[in-house]
Amino acid sequence: MLTFKELGLEDRLLTAITDMGFTKPSEIQEKAIPILLEKDKDLVALAQTGTGKTAAFGFPLLQKIDPAKKSVQGLILSPTRELCLQITQELALYGAHMPGINTVAVYGGASITDQASKLRKGAQIVVATPGRIKDMISRRLIDISSIRYCILDEADEMLNMGFLDDIKDILSNTPSERHTWLFSATMPKEVAQIAKQFMRKPDEITVGSKNTGSVNVNHEYYVVSGNNRYKALKRLADANPEIFSVIFCRTKRDTQRIAEKLIEDGYNAGALHGDLSQNQRDIVMKSFRNRQIQMLVATDVAARGIDVDDITHVINYQLPDETETYTHRSGRTGRAGKSGISMVIITKSEIRKIRSIERIIKKEFERKDIPGPEEICEIQLYHLSDKIRNTKIDKNIEPYLPAVNDVLEGIDREELIRKLVTVEFSRFASYYKDTDNLNASGDERVSGGNESVRYFINVGARDGYDWKTLKDFLRVQLNLERDEVFKVEVKDSFSFFSSEPSVKQQILDTFSEFKLDGRFINVEISEPTGRGGGGKKGKKGRKSRERFDGNQKFGHKGKRGKQSAKNKNKRKQR
Ligand code: AMP
Repeated sequence: MLTFKELGLEDRLLTAITDMGFTKPSEIQEKAIPILLEKDKDLVALAQTGTGKTAAFGFPLLQKIDPAKKSVQGLILSPTRELCLQITQELALYGAHMPGINTVAVYGGASITDQASKLRKGAQIVVATPGRIKDMISRRLIDISSIRYCILDEADEMLNMGFLDDIKDILSNTPSERHTWLFSATMPKEVAQIAKQFMRKPDEITVGSKNTGSVNVNHEYYVVSGNNRYKALKRLADANPEIFSVIFCRTKRDTQRIAEKLIEDGYNAGALHGDLSQNQRDIVMKSFRNRQIQMLVATDVAARGIDVDDITHVINYQLPDETETYTHRSGRTGRAGKSGISMVIITKSEIRKIRSIERIIKKEFERKDIPGPEEICEIQLYHLSDKIRNTKIDKNIEPYLPAVNDVLEGIDREELIRKLVTVEFSRFASYYKDTDNLNASGDERVSGGNESVRYFINVGARDGYDWKTLKDFLRVQLNLERDEVFKVEVKDSFSFFSSEPSVKQQILDTFSEFKLDGRFINVEISEPTGRGGGGKKGKKGRKSRERFDGNQKFGHKGKRGKQSAKNKNKRKQR
């Protein structure tokens, strides 16, 4: 193992490294720094956050910057404002003994004029989000025509967030002889394409194995029915009283809703998503960092900037659409050599998604049961005893003690403990009274199994829907959890979707006289199986259709009639 000095870093950096208390280089630093310093090459580095990658590119970059020149020499692109600020702060620490080097962060959601004026004072390093810097380039507020180093940090995440074109645009505004250092946790084909198009014979290094989450993370899944998802979340929290967690939801709306419910139910929770103002987000993050918030409910995008070690649990309240996103989520825990748990709450229909994640992360998930009330009570009581034992006595209680002693006089130690435990036990016992076993029975629903119900609906791509927007539409109309409706398949003028049998009646009832913009939306059972695609229309479906068609009082015959005929034709063609 080499020392920082042996990696070729200069004294001023070594002093800062000592100040920061770094004793030895991390794996990524040991591999990347010599390539960047001595070989002066382009580099593709596959590394998760928490591996020390900021220093892996930050140290060499600082060493290579010419403080005498005031032009922008190094450009770091990163996906979010939070990351931008974090990198800027880290660079300030690394460069603490390097006077004359100025780093400026430019990111959206803050005053562009302020940022431009900071740049005008001279900045050799700019840390930017792609959207904002592109804007500044086009408004000639920044000149990146003489940069020597361009660093793409969390490249996969920038592409996930739709910055591909912006990045290409930005890179094409830089000199071709610049060096490019690309850091990414994963290597999807879009990242490989950027590397191919914009980099010159890059060296490639990997820390850990590609696409693999942290070795310190255990992965668990819990199978519940869709409408028990929230209850399951609470039980997981109750069974882990010291939880310090990020809970991932797929939409901003769900994120806000779940956080609000948790707060109402007495949990130390907070929401983090893009609809919050920057000030609100800063407050939430501050509370999370100092542990006033134990359960941070977040969207994937908003959570990107979270750089908090010690997160004990990541809870996937809903699975993400992309497996890559799961890797990012679970990478929030198990950092800095600590162990962590990534929990996934799913419905039966999603078990197959777990299998495909397992294949990619090359780790097995453990199927676990949502703990029952007795188990939780036991954990909580044990936790309480532990807490009492370890609580430091607050001397401010002294004035109240005589009165308290008076009240408790005559109760011996044994009895006092019994009473104390009873207070806590009764609270939990009454909270969990009459609660059911939340674990869904049965095993994986195989494709083609007969548990889900398939429906036909007379709207499709022609009405402006794709599978996501139609799913959202259904979910909102039906007030269902996201995955109670699944396998949404949009055709031109009609679509199919599936649901759990438990919500079948609700779906049929909701759409029995349903009009949207004056038009009837017709939902009927297509086939009683979970098969993909529409398949043959079952007897039930025909019956419900007949019932619907025959019901003239709903009006709009002409238009709907036409639609029905079209649908029939379409389905004949299938
Ligand atoms: P990063 O992967 O860049 O987000 O870094 C994660 C954390 O590790 C940051 O707080 C760094 O300050 C810290 N760090 C980076 N390199 C080292 C090192 N060699 N030794 C100890 N801590 C480090």
